[in-house]
Amino acid sequence: MHKHHRALGLATTPSITNTGIDIAKQRPVQPVTLVRPHAASRAARFFAEKFPGRSMYAVKANPSPALLQILWDSGITHFDVASIAEVRLVAETLPEATLCFMHPVKASEAIRSAYFDYGVKTFSLDSVEELEKIVDATDHAEDLTLCVRLRVSSEHSKLSLASKFGAAPGETKELLFRARQAADALGICFHVGSQAMTPEAYANAMERVRAAIVDAAVTVDVIDVGGGFPSSYPGMEPPPLERYFETIHRAFESLPVSYSSELWCEPGRALCAEYSSIVVRVEKTPRR
Ligand SMILES: *Cc1c(COP(=O)(O)O)cnc(C)c1O
Repeated sequence: MHKHHRALGLATTPSITNTGIDIAKQRPVQPVTLVRPHAASRAARFFAEKFPGRSMYAVKANPSPALLQILWDSGITHFDVASIAEVRLVAETLPEATLCFMHPVKASEAIRSAYFDYGVKTFSLDSVEELEKIVDATDHAEDLTLCVRLRVSSEHSKLSLASKFGAAPGETKELLFRARQAADALGICFHVGSQAMTPEAYANAMERVRAAIVDAAVTVDVIDVGGGFPSSYPGMEPPPLERYFETIHRAFESLPVSYSSELWCEPGRALCAEYSSIVVRVEKTPRR
């Protein structure tokens, strides 16, 4: 148990560490969830202050309303939602928050309700089909921020998303061109895969972004580097997050985008991993 807690970076708060250890000593029959509001607050303030752009929380990582409130109170004002249920949840919990619907595959009625009932204006997409769906479902709205998701390598990540989402190089030019025509603001986004163990993952993805912008010759207003920011686990110590931020900032500054363009990121794990853990009684460990 102690090792588990150290891995989650808890050693700095004795009272809560002790609570966890006390609970573990009681060997609870039912699993017990431990929450650490201060750790989530610290992570949120870190991103809000140090990331060289806007940080929005990827709600699917942990949609607990208590956590959403802590993040909001600590400076996170934008939330990456992946379903209409998440749209509703965040809108009810934080009525003033800005929501961005960043799942590249959405149901028409979800897009429609997000736009008309909840004022969601930012959507991601990775196909012409999805672009047409968004345009239709919003009745050809003229105030949309459309983020084209590029397929990038997940080779440095513990959880790959490469085969699942993102436009392939051969599809990107037309998609960017068509999204530019439909959008008020055009963005490019990607996800390097979860728990990216080196900042190089972002540097490589940004090269893909550069190639796409040059190839399509469009004006881009938003670069969204997605999630993937790592947390520490036993036997898995990533470089400090500041190094990721530096690498991303340098790459962003060198892209052929307008001076007014914005840099966004969508951390999930990095904002919630230390917020909660669970104590379970292990009945049997497998033989090695
Ligand atoms: C899951 C997800 C995230 C968060 O990823 P982490 O690796 O937890 O930071 C961000 N953006 C999108 C689109 C996602 O699906």
